[in-house]
Amino acid sequence: MDTTPDRRWHRIAEALRPETRLLIDGQFRAAADGETLASINPANGTVIARVACANAADIETACEVAAKRFRQGVWSRIALRRRIDVLTRFSELIADNREILAVLDTMEMGKPIAEMCAIDVPGAVLTMRFMAESIDKIAGSAPVTNPDALHYILRQPLGVVGCITPWNYPLMMAVWKIAPALAAGNSVVLKPAEDTSLSALMLGRLFLEAGGPDGVFNVVPGRGAVAGQALARSMQVEKIAFTGSTAIGRQMYRYAADSNLKAVSAELGGKSPQIVLADVEDLSSVAEKVADGLFGNQGEVCSAGSRILVERSIHDEFCELIAGHASRKYRPGDPLDPSTTMGPLVNKVHQGRVLDYIDGARKDGATPVIGGHAGDRTADEACFVEPTLFAGVDNRMKIAQEEIFGPVGAIIPHDSPEDVVRIANDSPYGLAAGIWTSNLGKAHRIARDLECGMVWINGYMNGDMSQPWGGWKLSGHGRDKCLEALIDNTQSKSVWVTLD
Ligand code: NAD
Repeated sequence: MDTTPDRRWHRIAEALRPETRLLIDGQFRAAADGETLASINPANGTVIARVACANAADIETACEVAAKRFRQGVWSRIALRRRIDVLTRFSELIADNREILAVLDTMEMGKPIAEMCAIDVPGAVLTMRFMAESIDKIAGSAPVTNPDALHYILRQPLGVVGCITPWNYPLMMAVWKIAPALAAGNSVVLKPAEDTSLSALMLGRLFLEAGGPDGVFNVVPGRGAVAGQALARSMQVEKIAFTGSTAIGRQMYRYAADSNLKAVSAELGGKSPQIVLADVEDLSSVAEKVADGLFGNQGEVCSAGSRILVERSIHDEFCELIAGHASRKYRPGDPLDPSTTMGPLVNKVHQGRVLDYIDGARKDGATPVIGGHAGDRTADEACFVEPTLFAGVDNRMKIAQEEIFGPVGAIIPHDSPEDVVRIANDSPYGLAAGIWTSNLGKAHRIARDLECGMVWINGYMNGDMSQPWGGWKLSGHGRDKCLEALIDNTQSKSVWVTLD
């Protein structure tokens, strides 16, 4: 067997000279006050680049430009075929630049390069293509109405859509937001997360290369409390499309209420259950898939199945199986190595927060099964955490109630389908759930009774563009990906014509 380390992705990383300036009105430029943010590689603590950091004035400039371009109709009122062509070309350019985009996100947030290639980049390409193809599939209507009138309802773009995105899927979350907004004919101002701006800036360049008009898609990295707040409060913005934590999601509604009552769509946190019933045919295979639903992307996934609700009669056997699978498959390592399945967490602060949750779980009396430490790669600057599982968890404990957003799972026993629905719904969040069983009658009943936006039966986190992505309760109320996402970037106008 060839054991030479595969350095191909490192070579691409070394050759990269990423764009670091704000994109406003088709021009890359420094922030007005010259401020920059350091982009730090969480695998080793090195500074990748210094990225322009927009202040409130930069944001307002971007919003004004976007609003001006919208009123001019350079995108909002062009022939639909032209808009379809530009966004189709945009999707092709994302595909053509897949390796660079993959390396940018892996370097900035630590996701394994293999995941970027298998999930994030194809997901971004597909989303852009789907929204381009859907542009001329949505329609207004002309309802049957009074004989002395003609009534028709138009679907029109909103104006400027502000997109604010998190760091856990930098490229894919940005595309989930910008694709439907642009497809519907809006102008867009995108503010990516502080830790991960580089793929968003590259998207800006690719939109221009695809023939997108200046000022229709603007990218303004900056601090949340400054740039994000200015965007969400701007009177020029008609909608904020937000993905991030529930705490900041709440702020979005406040900003909207305090400014121009803009629409808010919010995709927020989660604490999703994976339910395992004793009747599953192959417990070992289920344990492996449950581990994948928890530890993929280091557990930094809104829909991570981090509460594992296992029927009591198989609890001990299941714990042994999942511990074995997780320890064999998920070993923290160099995220640019294509064989790595688990990278570092996004930054030092987040690593500290996750390790605090682990300490808290021990103090609360949960039983450690595997992991619990910063991992083998304990260099001061690296941000790794081992895959960690606790058994004997009570659903009222902090590790079962709060979103940890790291590789930490809580295994909780249950006694019946009624009991498991009660435990699953005993959460402020309602994003997703998984059910593993060979009894489809039970599965459908449980699915019906769960309080969440997405349920997977005998699978986890699979789906396609027909699937509305979003939650209930404190997980927010927006819907990404599907046709609904495109419609949510439009507004209706009723035109009533009196016939003589
Ligand atoms: P975050 O809420 O800290 O930040 C998200 C974005 O909001 C960033 O761009 C940030 O700069 C900005 N922001 C921060 N403070 C702000 C403020 N005061 N005003 C305006 N903007 C501000 O979230 P994060 O840590 O980047 O991402 C992790 C969170 O995202 C998790 O809770 C995760 O569950 C959630 N998430 C949800 C989904 C979903 O589809 N439901 C998908 C991915 C991530």
